[in-house]
Amino acid sequence: MHVRFWGVRGSISTPKATHLGIGGNTACVEVRLSDGSTCILDLGTGARELGRMLVKEAGGGPLDLHVFLSHFHWDHIQAVPFFAPLFEEENRVTFYGSDTEGEPMDLLTEQMRVPFFPFSFNELAAETRQIILQENVSVTVGGLTVTPFPVHHTQFVFGYKLEAGGASVVYCTDYEHGNERLDLLLGVVASGADLLICDAQYTPEEYAHCVGWGHSTWERAAQLAAEAKVKRLALFHHDPAHNDEQLSEILSAAQAVFPNTVLATEGATIVC
Ligand SMILES: [Zn+2]
Ligand SMILES: [Zn+2]
Repeated sequence: MHVRFWGVRGSISTPKATHLGIGGNTACVEVRLSDGSTCILDLGTGARELGRMLVKEAGGGPLDLHVFLSHFHWDHIQAVPFFAPLFEEENRVTFYGSDTEGEPMDLLTEQMRVPFFPFSFNELAAETRQIILQENVSVTVGGLTVTPFPVHHTQFVFGYKLEAGGASVVYCTDYEHGNERLDLLLGVVASGADLLICDAQYTPEEYAHCVGWGHSTWERAAQLAAEAKVKRLALFHHDPAHNDEQLSEILSAAQAVFPNTVLATEGATIVC
């Protein structure tokens, strides 16, 4: 599995020179197998570049894309109106997600409603469809098996476990620890994973002022990685206030707890 980070920032994009070593775009991750099977996790602002790359790569041929949405906060859907494959009629884009707070395509339609965008979701040229997911019920995309699981946040969130050929990646964005049932579930889901991508928005000191805001800390992510015996941890959903230097300090602190930790970095690929 090739896991490529197109957007790693949380909450809002941060196009500042001091932040660009790690990346300023919001959540978007591409998971691809060597046979071409591809899943896209979230369409934050990083998805704009991904969309342009996919269209170029297709060379005018049709694209059949599978987008798994964790939830509908703007930092996870803001590139929908700028996702190039949606503007070509030969393409098909399937959106997967929960209907706990509304059906995915209804919510995406609402996000693009005039006057928030000059034309509507229904006018997009590509064929769009949705698949409503249920907790712990897997779906397959080519050679990838994707299993959704609930994550504790301010709104309903699905995390996703992706498996192929014996390897597994767990995508756990917008996660706040402290819900006993969901913390236990996450420990089980992440157990032995090759890669855990985990919300690490805050330092423990910052978190003391942000309890209930829906995000976790590098410390919790590193402890979880150690407890679940994952092979590698990628800290994700970086706080907009954290520049490259601060993130480097956060990485060192996390590595003291769980050595095989990296910062999810825009443009970087991890092979599992
Ligand atoms: Zn978020
Ligand atoms: Zn959120």
